Amino acid sequence: MIVILGMDALDYYLVKEFGLPYLQLEEYGKTDISGIGAAVTPIMWSSFLTGRDMFREVAGGRKKVFSYYKGFRKKYIEIEPGFVKKARKKVTGKIRPMEKIYDFKESWNIRVPAEKTFLGDFKSYKALSVPGFNQPREEKDYLHQMMKKFLKNEITEVEYKEATLEFHRKSKAGALKALKEKPDLLFWYTPVTDVWGHLFFSDKETMYALYKEMNDFARQILEEFDPELLLIVSDHGMQEMKSGGGEHLNLDYAFYACTPRLGLKDPSILDFRGIMKGIAAKGIKNKKRKIKAGEGREPKPQKKEVDKEKIVKSLQNLGYI
Ligand SMILES: [Zn+2]
Repeated sequence: MIVILGMDALDYYLVKEFGLPYLQLEEYGKTDISGIGAAVTPIMWSSFLTGRDMFREVAGGRKKVFSYYKGFRKKYIEIEPGFVKKARKKVTGKIRPMEKIYDFKESWNIRVPAEKTFLGDFKSYKALSVPGFNQPREEKDYLHQMMKKFLKNEITEVEYKEATLEFHRKSKAGALKALKEKPDLLFWYTPVTDVWGHLFFSDKETMYALYKEMNDFARQILEEFDPELLLIVSDHGMQEMKSGGGEHLNLDYAFYACTPRLGLKDPSILDFRGIMKGIAAKGIKNKKRKIKAGEGREPKPQKKEVDKEKIVKSLQNLGYI
């Protein structure tokens, strides 16, 4: 059995800082996502599954879109039809903000068919609420509404955290039930690492508690089910906003970790379709597993002032609220 734990926005640098052994597993590193047009959740997960740049497919269906970096900011060029022919004569590419090119709200409607993903390469698989594939709309709506209620001060931080942790407990129970049926591949997905990241990324104590929870879940799966391969992946990282909280639209990296070692070197997120296809066909040869012990490094409590209005703006841009 192969187990993939998809942890949205699990951040490479934070995993490294906290040093939790069951998030680092035996091999971990950055995943290159710079080739994908936009670091937006449903686009990234559907790209991971299909090995194709889904941003170009969904946004470029109407207009050709190319992205490049200038400093730290990702820029987008919209190319008029016929650009290639005209290119020698005049450059017609227009630099526009990406939200004018593509409304990210639409990305939540992406549904890639199983046969276009590596899931279809396995004899049996279970994919639990994966964005861009089969995440129920009401599940994403519920989580985003809870964020909105917290940001508008309709519920307290404690109430918000309790509600999302209750969601997480049910989601874990779903994974454990599915694992007992022993599919060839289980793909569990959690959005909690993303939604907490947006709200609490500048609160290291909270982030450590959440990463520790994910670490313990990975450990439980290894100990109870001993899968041939455990792969933890994220779709993008998270960076602290100056005004507090987190954002990820302009990041060019995601995260992966695995046991046993796969020997990957700076993989692109688009490489995993081929990697998983190979594993579906040939299985895993390396059976050795050795994970170091420990609880990582718990940060000292340090809480910064957070400008909730800035987080609201950033989430509106992403089509969350
Ligand atoms: Zn995401």
